[in-house]
Amino acid sequence: MNVAFIGMGIMGKPMAINLRKAGHTVFVHGRRAETMAQPVEAGCTRCASAAEAAAQAEIIIVMVSDTPDVEQVLFGDNGVAAGARPGSVVIDMSTISPTATRMFAEKLQARGIEMLDAPVSGGDVGAINATLSIMVGGKPEVFDRVRPVFEAMGKNIVRVGDHGAGQVAKACHQIVVAVTSEGVAEALTVARKHGVAPAKVRDALMGGFAGSRILEVHGKRMLDNDYTPGFKTKLHQKDINIVMQTAKELGLALPGAALMMQHLNALMGTGDGELDSAAVMKIVERESGMER
Ligand code: NAP
Repeated sequence: MNVAFIGMGIMGKPMAINLRKAGHTVFVHGRRAETMAQPVEAGCTRCASAAEAAAQAEIIIVMVSDTPDVEQVLFGDNGVAAGARPGSVVIDMSTISPTATRMFAEKLQARGIEMLDAPVSGGDVGAINATLSIMVGGKPEVFDRVRPVFEAMGKNIVRVGDHGAGQVAKACHQIVVAVTSEGVAEALTVARKHGVAPAKVRDALMGGFAGSRILEVHGKRMLDNDYTPGFKTKLHQKDINIVMQTAKELGLALPGAALMMQHLNALMGTGDGELDSAAVMKIVERESGMER
């Protein structure tokens, strides 16, 4: 298939390369020209704008940061809508607001362009290994049409429901990730304060009910005190902000997510927005005077 891919960040770059490896013809566009070098080396075609990439493709994937960025890439100057042909499908794989997603889908539909929201989980490792979990919202027949493209990037691919449902699933996912990260950070801090090796505690917990990908991956980053991203704190703050917005709109109490919102805000305040979000450990340590 002819696929356009907009957004050459930590996630977008390896995802575009995997599409190429799977035999698709891939047209890439990144805001900064240098971010396209690696995908071009892998056989993708460089495009000067999102419109130029979209004009050559039947499927157009967007993988940028936040809701206003997706809006700009879709409807801004030289954006996707300016180039995409009627009958093409836009797949937004960024994590953004479910409400805005429904609005974008309507605007594209008015131009004869289909849309799926398809946020992912699995991190940079999942993006590189093509093992992402993909949560999809949109029409079932459109989902079936583009399935081979999803299969080139991920493993657990679920159509959750109509437009926005993928983003709702992702918001739910981020609540679990956030609250579990806080639990892992607190547990490893308790171990250290007790003089018990946190690494051994993590090994012991991995086999029990507390075992999880968060304990495994974030737990390791916390033990190593190495917060090279990964999934940046500023992006997790954006995601939990979406959750808190949803809580307000729906009249829900989400105290676990609210606590994490505060800790992510604090990390932003100390200039740590570019660190992996496992850096929540730094806040937990600071609160108890246990900085390393
Ligand atoms: P990233 O490394 O910061 O990359 C974001 C990319 O989007 C950058 O290349 C950036 O361009 C581009 N971009 C942002 N705003 C733009 C705009 N207005 N116009 C054009 N390009 C724009 O982020 P990432 O980690 O790849 O994350 C991308 C999305 O996936 C986010 O929604 C994130 O929440 C989600 N996600 C990430 C992970 C993860 O582990 N990293 C996991 C699951 C989901 P520049 O290079 O010029 O800044």
